[in-house]
Amino acid sequence: TWGRVKQQLLEAVGRNDYANWIEPLQLKKVDNGVAHFSVPTSFMANWVSRNFADQILMHLKASKVPASRVDFKVEVARPAQDAPTEATAAPVEQTSALATSTPEVEVADLPSAPLDARFTFDNFVVGKPNELAHAAARRVGEGGPVTFNPLFLYGGVGLGKTHLMHAIAHEIKQRDPEARVLYLSAEQFMYRFVQALRDRQMMDFKQLFRSVDVLMVDDVQFIAGKDSTQEEFFHTFNALVDQGKQIIISADRAPGEIKDLEDRIKSRLQCGLVVDLHPTDYELRLGILQTKAENYRTQYPGLVFAEGVLEFLAHRITTNVRVLEGALMRLFAFASLVGREITMDLAQECLADILKASDRKVTVEEIQRRVSEHYSIRLSDMIGPKRVRVIARPRQVAMYLSKQLTSRSLPEIGRRFGGRDHTTVMHGVRRIEELQTTDSQMFEDVEMLRRALEG
Ligand code: ADP
Ligand code: MG
Repeated sequence: TWGRVKQQLLEAVGRNDYANWIEPLQLKKVDNGVAHFSVPTSFMANWVSRNFADQILMHLKASKVPASRVDFKVEVARPAQDAPTEATAAPVEQTSALATSTPEVEVADLPSAPLDARFTFDNFVVGKPNELAHAAARRVGEGGPVTFNPLFLYGGVGLGKTHLMHAIAHEIKQRDPEARVLYLSAEQFMYRFVQALRDRQMMDFKQLFRSVDVLMVDDVQFIAGKDSTQEEFFHTFNALVDQGKQIIISADRAPGEIKDLEDRIKSRLQCGLVVDLHPTDYELRLGILQTKAENYRTQYPGLVFAEGVLEFLAHRITTNVRVLEGALMRLFAFASLVGREITMDLAQECLADILKASDRKVTVEEIQRRVSEHYSIRLSDMIGPKRVRVIARPRQVAMYLSKQLTSRSLPEIGRRFGGRDHTTVMHGVRRIEELQTTDSQMFEDVEMLRRALEG
């Protein structure tokens, strides 16, 4: 029955959400009106329960499953040295994630954020772009005398910072189960800090954070501009370093480049080892795909990849590893539903949106060129000062398309239009939005340009 319900859910939520959130669910039992599911991570438990519980319940009922409530339990695969996969590792029951509706799961006395059991060193594929970060993380995970303190990992979205941090935590805990490892995001740090202030529990807060052996703070750029949180973070940091405790930090950019972060914190962050994760290259992407595909094959033994499909994906999806993984997950889910071999055609059909999005990166410069050609004005007038309408209007069209087709922010777009202010850009964008509803020529022009640019 669950198979049939899943099929209905696939139709209801779409392939993408299905692959990410529904497919990994396992219906364990239905008992006293409660449908018990297991999920691989507590994050997933939270997310699914918040976003999909109603729909799941509805479809269960429609299929005459006697359930009036759903419950998601985290079943963590124990991170082990010998290449664990979700399918083979022994599941360990964790405390129920959501039945009690508390957002934080792992408690004991250390309020560490839950660790993803799949984020181990064994599951981390090493290539040129990440080998230094990986080596540094491994070294810190091995323990011994604290050499790199703090270890500062930085890099773009989806390149493996969180994965490496969790891997370090798993490693340390495995070697020394008594070790007090506290992993949390900078956001959670702030949240706890504010809560402690509000509840007048600052003493407890300080004591707690100063009593850990290893402190890991993920995405530290989040506390930029949050003055009192920074202050507290700074003191925590210093106290731990003084005690010779290990600190591991991640951010989306180098310490010196985090705006609105106090200088003394920047220099503190820089005084250990700073390593970055570079954007992936083709070999690394292929390696990651091969590893993950291998893991999937233990779950779906019947599924085969046609020659060249993984290579194709590694070529075409260059944004971040999370997108790459999502694509693979979706392919497997889809292929397992329809029972087809994963061919190039299937990949193109099933991943059309992802492929398109990561396919062509339209630049503001390209947009300016196309638009000026279309309206027969000079390219230099795009960035020049002229304000006559025959020039200003095409410029606004180019601004509008830049906003629509690139990921640039308004100030960034303004800079590329001869240093114009972001409010000017915003005004231009709005103007073209309006005109498209009243002026059919404008509508056609914009549509044509958009199609030409998107290719
Ligand atoms: P970040 O924290 O840098 O944004 P994550 O650590 O969350 O990125 O990684 C995004 C996803 O990509 C995760 O599922 C992670 O397991 C996977 N991933 C990233 N790099 C690698 C790698 N080198 N090998 C295997 N999986 C990876
Ligand atoms: Mg992260």
